[in-house]
Amino acid sequence: MTTATADAAPTPMMAQYIEIKAANPDCLLFYRMGDFYELFFEDAEEASRALGIALTKRGKHLGEDIPMCGVPIHAAEDYLQKLIALGHRIAVCDQMEDPAEAKKRGSKSVVKRDVVRLVTPGTITEDQLLEAGRANYLMTLTRLGAKGREGEFAIAWTDLSTGAFRLAETGADRLEADIAAVEPSEVVVAEPLYRDEAFAQVFRRLGRRARPEPQALFDAATAPERICRFFGVSTLDGFGSFSRVELSAAAALIAYLGKTQLAARPALQRPERRVAGSAMEIDPATRASLELTRSAGGRRAGSLLSVIDRTVTGAGGRLLAVRLASPLTDPTAIRERQASLAHFIEDYALRAELRATLGRLPDIERALSRIALGRGGPRDLLAIRSGLFAASEIAARLTGDLPAELAACRQAILALPDTLSERLEMTLAEEVPLLKRDGGFVRPGALAALDEARTLREDARRFIAELQGHYAEETGIKSLKIKHNNVLGYFIEMNEANGKALMAGPLASTFIHRQTLASAMRFTTGELADLDERISHAGADALKLELETFDQLAAEIVEAAPQLQAAAGALGAIDVASALAELAVSGDWSRPVVDDSLAFRIEGGRHPVVEAALAAADGQSFVANDCDLSPKGKGPGAIWLVTGPNMGGKSTFLRQNAIIAILAQIGAYVPATAAHIGIVDRLFSRVGASDDLAEGRSTFMVEMVETAAILNQSGERALVILDEIGRGTATYDGLSIAFASVEHLHEVNRCRALFATHFHEMTALSARLKRLANVTMRVKEWQGEVIFLHEVGAGAADRSYGIQVARLAGLPKVVVERARQVLAELERSEQGEKRETFLDDLPLFSAAVRRQAEPAAPSAEVHPLVAEVEALDPDAMTPREAMEALYRLKAKL
Ligand code: ADP
Repeated sequence: MTTATADAAPTPMMAQYIEIKAANPDCLLFYRMGDFYELFFEDAEEASRALGIALTKRGKHLGEDIPMCGVPIHAAEDYLQKLIALGHRIAVCDQMEDPAEAKKRGSKSVVKRDVVRLVTPGTITEDQLLEAGRANYLMTLTRLGAKGREGEFAIAWTDLSTGAFRLAETGADRLEADIAAVEPSEVVVAEPLYRDEAFAQVFRRLGRRARPEPQALFDAATAPERICRFFGVSTLDGFGSFSRVELSAAAALIAYLGKTQLAARPALQRPERRVAGSAMEIDPATRASLELTRSAGGRRAGSLLSVIDRTVTGAGGRLLAVRLASPLTDPTAIRERQASLAHFIEDYALRAELRATLGRLPDIERALSRIALGRGGPRDLLAIRSGLFAASEIAARLTGDLPAELAACRQAILALPDTLSERLEMTLAEEVPLLKRDGGFVRPGALAALDEARTLREDARRFIAELQGHYAEETGIKSLKIKHNNVLGYFIEMNEANGKALMAGPLASTFIHRQTLASAMRFTTGELADLDERISHAGADALKLELETFDQLAAEIVEAAPQLQAAAGALGAIDVASALAELAVSGDWSRPVVDDSLAFRIEGGRHPVVEAALAAADGQSFVANDCDLSPKGKGPGAIWLVTGPNMGGKSTFLRQNAIIAILAQIGAYVPATAAHIGIVDRLFSRVGASDDLAEGRSTFMVEMVETAAILNQSGERALVILDEIGRGTATYDGLSIAFASVEHLHEVNRCRALFATHFHEMTALSARLKRLANVTMRVKEWQGEVIFLHEVGAGAADRSYGIQVARLAGLPKVVVERARQVLAELERSEQGEKRETFLDDLPLFSAAVRRQAEPAAPSAEVHPLVAEVEALDPDAMTPREAMEALYRLKAKL
């Protein structure tokens, strides 16, 4: 061991720090020192890097400098926000006593400190740290038994800011989709599951959002008892029935909240079980491809959500996001939501009035959760008061014959206790400070004792003001002033000359000298000191009374938490319905027919995001398109094979139909002139694969893994959107895979599907597959240029217009010209037969170029491959023979 000399021993403060840090090893420790939170050692290095603040040193530990950085208390929230956004967890360690107390115990004594809260991404409640329109979910995930069979996994999730608490069983193959549907900020995973190699990819993709916690937190045997204890009930029977694995996830969630919130008890709602199959299943890749809640760049702007969101409250915005993430599968429930929209569409005045009132509604849910966690301030009380007030105004406007959903919302608002709103009305001032310790938030007249204390304080203040004139007269010093500061309290100030004269004069015994500054002298008198004392006493009494009142009001609010949460949820639902009504009216959307059939017919459908982007960019209008995948008579739905040039609008068309299905199933109107959607239970969309470099998988591999999932999982009720499958590999491989995939979709999955491809050969499939139809994106050629009409029409594309598109993209002129020549030559050498596919094929392409480059030898021997291809008669071959021929050709390259 090295020299462990006395001066290497940690100071008492450092010893305390090390002890607290050891108890919270995976958190950055914010250690309170006076007006700062300080970080030491690696924490300091990490935080200074992340926050861009200076790294300094404080003292030594084991003979080494201790790296340190600090953030001022008043700015701590901003720094917390940045660190949370980067995925850090923070332990906030506060001083648990006045430093003066510690001094009394002796010079070596340290101020008592303790961690008062762990700030983790899933457990924040501060408005500054949260996005208003987004829920912030904490999730737990567990598995019962070692094998992990279907039904042995469960998730539980809560939004602390609303108290919503949900449970669901899930399975190994649905795990990722179920997590993605909730979009949690933090997923707490039982340690053995987290370490299971089989799920390594899942957790890697979740990145810092996923974290392991000991299995003990998830203990299934004690789970029911732990949940009962939290809710203060003796049995869970009243909550419904839950499986063992669900209870284990729920108990872990409660335990984790206990661990991070310490003494505070969040206002969780009773756990609600999500029934399997009640929501459209949408896997993470489909969500990403359709840019439902986030655009390709990961931001909210540019996403479908951002374009359809006309809500005016935080709760409404959050609810819309939740609904968009989990479209319904029950037509009755969907029609119920449509009815609310219809009600608001018909009554313009009602909609406008409600939206104006909702616009003034504070965030009741988040104020409530802060109050329940003991982190509330006077403004949260005020938010509840004005929320209650606006809510009753809204309920009063919802009269007459209401659709079921709105009637239920009205009921929820009317169930709010009147007494609470009266109490808040009578007790709270009109304007209140941010912090309760500043006082002044209780209305005059609300509390006699408080009024008395305030009057005393005011009287004394007035008396002091009068005293100044009196002293000026008595001493003959006109410039004398009575002032106040936190150290001296009230004092009399005059310039030095006057002060000296006073001290030498007859009034020296009345005016007691307190302080001499460079330019002034300060005095007090017995009378002033007495008044000062009275003021501070009265002030302290008043504050104590106010804080007591705060606690009483907070307790009454927490008492009414279930009703408040229900009413806040109802207001959110009213906001969503009126916002979607507003959207339907302004965008000329229509009410889709949604039922249990397998229909899928859209007339004049549009892509809301592309349409908005076109309108914003150059006022260009979007070309509406029909889509009909409905079964002809009985039996499964149809498949459309979409061909057309690049930039023709294939992806847009594919996506818009998937988006319309989602919108229809969240109960919204849809961007189309008419639509009939038979419930879609599972949606798959793969549009343009991108390299997943972080995963070390190639585009092609990603595409194949995803295609495999689709072919293995889609049933008759699924809707499958596939774009350019097989593009990531050599032409023949790609064509074969695309071919086989469409056959499988048609014969085995029998689902409704849209399949875009640039393999024109595939259009021949329609002769054999009776539910497959060919459509193409129309283009017009004009003076050698291609004009995209963005119109979907029956039939197949006859050309790919690749060179025209390349020219539009700005490929150098010489290259474009050269390409034209090569193409002409190729077409001639194929004797006019349309075999554009071979253009994609490099060996032939280079062979052709060689031929072109050697005009002297035009009669050179025909390449054996070309001869072989020429010998083929595609029309006389079965698809299987065609495929075999392709493989044979490929093998010869
Ligand atoms: P593809 O998938 O065939 O390459 P995209 O769907 O990406 O084509 O569309 C290319 C561009 O054409 C889009 O970015 C959009 O600006 C425009 N576009 C697509 N569909 C339409 C439409 N229906 N009406 C107007 N413009 C469209």
